[in-house]
Amino acid sequence: MSYVYDDQNIFAKILRGEIPNTTVLETEHSLAFRDIHPQAPTHVLVIPKGPYVCFDHFAQSASDAEIVDYVRAVGEVCKLEGVEADGFRLIANAGKNGVQDVPHLHVHILAGRLLGSMLARG
Ligand code: AMP
Repeated sequence: MSYVYDDQNIFAKILRGEIPNTTVLETEHSLAFRDIHPQAPTHVLVIPKGPYVCFDHFAQSASDAEIVDYVRAVGEVCKLEGVEADGFRLIANAGKNGVQDVPHLHVHILAGRLLGSMLARG
């Protein structure tokens, strides 16, 4: 699959500073910020700064430095938000069946309440 990145997506605009965000962590290659419509007491999105559509695009195309930075950023946000003790969920939606709304890779970090079963039916 060859992905085409749309640089007008909302997270690209956040990265260019065209729209505001509530930053939790910024690293050389990654940005973490609060979801605008939180679905749990803690709901943080972690994105790479590079133009990657979804997780497999990133895993196949990003540099080792970007991948290490990104994975470490997810871990650092978990630490900063204090979610390790009670647990949390990572979600990375991709494409149509994954119901991905924003075509720039993002991992959702959800925590702070019992999150229920993994998938809703239907
Ligand atoms: P997904 O369906 O996995 O693509 O999730 C996209 C997420 O981005 C949703 O949870 C939205 O609430 C969130 N979102 C959309 N626009 C913004 C924004 N400007 N700032 C923060 N989060 C946003």
